[in-house]
Amino acid sequence: MHIHKYSEPYVTVGCVAHWTNILLQYRGEQPRFQARAVGPILRQLGLSTVKIGSKGIGICLTNDVREHLHRQAARYRIILAADDCPLCAKQRSSEQKNQSAKQ
Ligand SMILES: [Zn+2]
Repeated sequence: MHIHKYSEPYVTVGCVAHWTNILLQYRGEQPRFQARAVGPILRQLGLSTVKIGSKGIGICLTNDVREHLHRQAARYRIILAADDCPLCAKQRSSEQKNQSAKQ
């Protein structure tokens, strides 16, 4: 997931659909997300979509949003494996805490 080091201040729904499909393929599932379907899903996840000039709609990648996406990724068991991403490290360590709490 390139959200870790994505340098643009915003990401379009087309881009989110593309990343999600790559992840699904990686997990051996059918890529099934279309840009059109992503907007409502993002809103369900509590992310507000904005119009990005001529590129259609998308979300602003504020730090809050990046953190939110990391939490969602953890929830859906999507790899949080970017070595130099502080948010990934944070999620990984809170997962470990959860796991040791269960034992
Ligand atoms: Zn990350």
